[in-house]
Amino acid sequence: MTTSSNRQSSDALYQDALTHIVGGVNSPSRSFKAVGGGAPVYMERGEGAYFYDVDGNRYIDYLAAYGPIITGHAHPHIHEALMNASSKGLLYGTPHRLEVEFAKKLKQAIPSMDKVRFTNSGTEAVMTTVRVARAYTGRELVVKFSGCYHGHSDLMLIAAGSGPATLGSPDSAGVTKATAKEVITVPFNDVEAYREMMKEWGDQVACVLVEPIVGNFGIVEPKPGFLQAVNDITHEHGALVIYDEVITAFRFTYGSAQQVYGIEPDMTALGKIIGGGLPIGAYGGKAEIMETVAPLGPAYQAGTMAGNPASMATGIACLEVLEQPGVYEKLDALGAKLEAGIREAAEKHDVTITLNRLKGALTVYFTDEIVTDYEGAEKSDGEKFGRFFKLMLENGVNLAPSKYEAWFLTTEHTEQDIEETIEAVNRSFAQL
Ligand code: PLP
Repeated sequence: MTTSSNRQSSDALYQDALTHIVGGVNSPSRSFKAVGGGAPVYMERGEGAYFYDVDGNRYIDYLAAYGPIITGHAHPHIHEALMNASSKGLLYGTPHRLEVEFAKKLKQAIPSMDKVRFTNSGTEAVMTTVRVARAYTGRELVVKFSGCYHGHSDLMLIAAGSGPATLGSPDSAGVTKATAKEVITVPFNDVEAYREMMKEWGDQVACVLVEPIVGNFGIVEPKPGFLQAVNDITHEHGALVIYDEVITAFRFTYGSAQQVYGIEPDMTALGKIIGGGLPIGAYGGKAEIMETVAPLGPAYQAGTMAGNPASMATGIACLEVLEQPGVYEKLDALGAKLEAGIREAAEKHDVTITLNRLKGALTVYFTDEIVTDYEGAEKSDGEKFGRFFKLMLENGVNLAPSKYEAWFLTTEHTEQDIEETIEAVNRSFAQL
């Protein structure tokens, strides 16, 4: 295992980046601001479950690029698909065969989508589902659950108001107060709060956005009955249910979380894994609703890069890997081994943790309280997480630099990798 703090080349690149790229990073979550600061690690190469940085250090990777890389880095089947696609031209701006093939494959895996449209990111996919829901219902209010992230469109960067049934306030500079008044945020896993809010606002609500299994304040499963209640209450009020499955689709099963719980939303937003590592998003839903979208209907949505042959090819190839028998069983078994090892290490070194895991995804919270909502996740000790994160890096394990993120396993992690990771956790906990 690499146990090197030698990262001079990363430090130098970061200094250079600070001069040219705002904050040195192209997405704020990549900065080390939430873990006590410092230069992020600059990766040179990914291979299977490993990263190699620009100083030659090796890391076992659990970031998986915030979810998409479920088949590990540089998977040969996906690489080959990309090479084939690029040899035929990267972008057509015309319809082509692969987008039809991929749309069929996605529909087979997620049957609640009668019709699909590809976009370039999860942000675009979610943003458009809201537009379509508003066009379809003729209503304007949007509901979401606190702590859930649905991309960076204005409408999705709204913080909760002062009570569960009040309108929101902007969560980012540049988002208008008028936009904030269009969004209501309620606590996840709280049916009563949802019911009360809908009693007050239901006749003006176009849609509710749901991460059916939360991935954005760690891995948090819905309580039994929560998703069904949200579906029922929403429909009683004539509004639409949109599942944001940007993280969850193909993460826990071949298909989506809606199949895990047997609940059908009206629309679904996808991204991340379905691109096999290239930029992608997609949304889909019942035919009657999707027919609101241009060129059939009045809701406009477009994209120069949307459905590009390269993203279609890598997406299809990724799903071909994931549909092989045993993939999700393996992810679950490795996840269970990792969970047991982390729990044992916490006991041995007297470190208080709460661990949430579902199959090949888990989150370690530095709190003794169970985490079922954002309030619970906020109680995780961020300062302790920051130290743990940096110790893990020193011990050759790459995690996401935020206490709210998940560890994602890939099909390429081995039992040996898990054992090495558990050793790293033991060494890190011993020094916390
Ligand atoms: N929805 C969820 C649940 C996400 O986790 C994310 C990104 O992390 C998005 C939407 C936005 O996707 P993208 O970053 O591809 O725009």
